[in-house]
Amino acid sequence: MSNKSQQWNPHLWPPFTQVSTSTPPQRVISGDGALLLRDGAPPLIDAISSWWVTLHGHTHPYISSAISKQTEELEQVIFADFTHPQAEKLAARLSHVTGLERLFFSDNGSTAVEVALKIACQWWKNRCEPRHQLIAFQGAYHGDTFGAMALGERTLFNAPFEDMLFPVRRLPWPDTWWGDDNLEKKEKVVLSELEQSLETPTAAVILEPLVQGAGGMSMVRPEFLQKVEKRIQEAGALLIADEVLTGFGRCGSLFAFQRAGIKPNLIALSKGLTGGFLPMGVTMASEEIFSAFIGEAPHLTLWHGHSFTGNPLGCAAANASLDLLEANPEQYQKFESRHIAHLHIIAKHPRVKRIRVTGTIAAFDLDVEGPSGYLNTAGKTIKAIAMQNGVFLRPLGNVVYLLPPLCLNNSQLEQCYSAIEKGLDML
Ligand SMILES: *Cc1c(COP(=O)(O)O)cnc(C)c1O
Repeated sequence: MSNKSQQWNPHLWPPFTQVSTSTPPQRVISGDGALLLRDGAPPLIDAISSWWVTLHGHTHPYISSAISKQTEELEQVIFADFTHPQAEKLAARLSHVTGLERLFFSDNGSTAVEVALKIACQWWKNRCEPRHQLIAFQGAYHGDTFGAMALGERTLFNAPFEDMLFPVRRLPWPDTWWGDDNLEKKEKVVLSELEQSLETPTAAVILEPLVQGAGGMSMVRPEFLQKVEKRIQEAGALLIADEVLTGFGRCGSLFAFQRAGIKPNLIALSKGLTGGFLPMGVTMASEEIFSAFIGEAPHLTLWHGHSFTGNPLGCAAANASLDLLEANPEQYQKFESRHIAHLHIIAKHPRVKRIRVTGTIAAFDLDVEGPSGYLNTAGKTIKAIAMQNGVFLRPLGNVVYLLPPLCLNNSQLEQCYSAIEKGLDML
């Protein structure tokens, strides 16, 4: 499986990578549906949707042509003093499907979270009742910019900046899996901690509905989130849903908050927004929130914006991606049952524990010795064996997961599970 292009590029600084202990990246020449096509090596199934962004598949012709057409009409325009049809169309559609009337554009998931956070904090200031406490969950990941880092779990990744991160009150995340018999108790503990925390006036609570992604594909029940929402409402705090990963069908419903049965005040979206074709983030806010930013006094304004706000190419891709989701909702609605058939089989493997699935996302923990978390090496073995069997995985420490594009067919899904099983047998 040698790949001639496999050496470190002298001009690139790779993300999330320790160069001294990693193998150099492989060069990808093209993508086609669920497949990545490499330089001088067999095709690979992209079983994690290229860091969770590729939604319908690589180079999907419908989205490609929507972008291409848009490049001939308008590639970019300043989004203050001007608007354009693709942005207006996208805002109307996302507002219709989320139930939140206002859309604010940014560039990626981290900035979508930053914007949600700034709106939440300023909302209280604008109403002349400033609130300072922010609540987030253990294991949360909200992005890599400073505000998003502060909201996320404190880990090795943000340790160098710890003294620069604002304080956040953190609650346990009562994640669950097949055969978990301690669930009620775990949830109860968290809910009573939440009640206690909310006695301090709280600006906002932020959470990843149903599935914490980078934290290890940790899943909670809708019932838990409904109880969380109820307490937040009683305390008058704002609920921010970080749906950067969970949005656009990944969790079996168009948005995870819908399946969870909750209604956030603010939603951060990115990743699958453009079908994974172009970087773009949006923050959705209710009309009630928006209205607190309207008035003569300059300080009421949300003084935030990005150079590429509302980029027409991104909007065209996002509109095309929504067309595809609307045309075939069964594709994401029925993905979970396809996983479940395979998970029942893999559940019997002695190295597999804590199986969980939500929509298109399936995960389990490796039952092995050694440290848990990102630095566990058993996941690396699984990754290497899967690669030899034509499947690209990127376990989070000892958490193995599949998060494939919607176009993945049955034989490709079969190949993913069989590659994982071959890896498990090597542990
Ligand atoms: C990936 C992710 C982010 C950050 O998005 P970027 O586009 O990488 O900045 C934020 N929140 C969640 C839940 C994510 O999964």
